[in-house]
Amino acid sequence: MTVYDILLKNGTVVDPASGRVEAADLAVADGRIAEIGPDLDPTRARETFDLSGSHVLPGIVDMHMHASAWLGGRAGHKMMAEVGVTTALDMSGPIDSVLDIARDHGVGLNLACIEAVRPGQTVQTADPGPAEIRALLDQSLRKGAIGFKLLGGHYPLTPEATARTIELANEAKAYVAFHAGSTTQGSNIEGFLQAVELAGPRAVHIAHINSYCRGAVRAWMQETEEAIAALTAHPNLRSESYLSPLNGTSAKCAGGAPESRVTQHCLTVGGFPPTEAGFEAAVLAGWAQINIAAGGRVVLGTGPAARDYWRQRGTDVTVSFAVNPPEPRLRLATAKRPSGEFVVDAISTDGGGIPRNVIVEMGLALVKLQALTLVEFARKASLNPARILGLGAKGALQVGADADITVVNLENQRAVLGIGNGRVIMHRGYACGSGTRIVTTAAGADAVRARGLVPLVVNLAESRFYRH
Ligand SMILES: [Zn+2]
Repeated sequence: MTVYDILLKNGTVVDPASGRVEAADLAVADGRIAEIGPDLDPTRARETFDLSGSHVLPGIVDMHMHASAWLGGRAGHKMMAEVGVTTALDMSGPIDSVLDIARDHGVGLNLACIEAVRPGQTVQTADPGPAEIRALLDQSLRKGAIGFKLLGGHYPLTPEATARTIELANEAKAYVAFHAGSTTQGSNIEGFLQAVELAGPRAVHIAHINSYCRGAVRAWMQETEEAIAALTAHPNLRSESYLSPLNGTSAKCAGGAPESRVTQHCLTVGGFPPTEAGFEAAVLAGWAQINIAAGGRVVLGTGPAARDYWRQRGTDVTVSFAVNPPEPRLRLATAKRPSGEFVVDAISTDGGGIPRNVIVEMGLALVKLQALTLVEFARKASLNPARILGLGAKGALQVGADADITVVNLENQRAVLGIGNGRVIMHRGYACGSGTRIVTTAAGADAVRARGLVPLVVNLAESRFYRH
């Protein structure tokens, strides 16, 4: 007779793989789902949770977040676990920093990482040749990353080098994600359309679709419909969009102005000059919200105290602006293809250490609005991203699947219990797990182990990233 490590009693089990929603108990043993059914025997369980009134979903997978020393920092792990995330993809690395933080500050999540192709940092110029790109890819995979991130919106490559990078990543069956933009197009709908063209027939994950639909070029709903049409016409493209009104960008100033073009643009949108003085005025006025590390988390701040925090750190901090209008966010979260599949595969956050981890909070708002069913929410927030990352045993609530589970309360739109690989990692908003499993390819498993972390090896060639 199996002894259950954990028994979840009296919840409503939502399985996006079968589409079933049923009042049932769910038992966990040895890291897997052991049984789902009515009236499972609590005397067989080491630990029981009464989940009356709650919904039991497969663990939330955030396909776009940041938890490196460069972006997001170490608070990301705890902040994600607190809101029910069990698996995440760090969307820029550096892989060394992501792994160190995962080892030293892990709270029980599964984490994958892709390495940025960044001029002056990981490649020499904005136009790296094939040999340099291949060498970086090889090195990144051997360190444990699953592929590349193109940071076109912030640190663009030439269109030619962008296409080359995508092609070489596809050849190696590695992951490649793209924040649209190049040396000839910005981080907007034109940059997005160029990204679609540069991808050609190849597999690419285009990041945060909502960020190209903010009205920078045309009316934002027109941009949104153009993005939807392009994604529908190109099934080789994977994508996510997020639900927070907030973006996240660099507050670093040099020579009297913010370094990032995104930051400069946000100041202009808010009616401030795109200069250092304009930035300071925007912080004092509440438009620019400084990301402030406090109490092991990152919170948003404005006014004189936030201005001082920014100054004391030599301006090198992250800042958020409320630049995502609601209509594109709603449309991108719900739009479907003629087949019934979602146009945008997943709901993400671009959060982690940037405080906008609202997959559950705002995703369940869409469920209340009846814009998504609970099964559809679970598909976008768990099943689809799990399949794209090659995590075939995650994203579903079926016997034998990994016991990655997020229990949510629909009434207050919060995650109340998080289980990762069969262990409780969050209860009532308190992160209580430890360690991190690193989602990696066969090439990176040894390096992950050598760093004192547990690898979870995926084969992307068999994943929905390459098979659609
Ligand atoms: Zn990002």
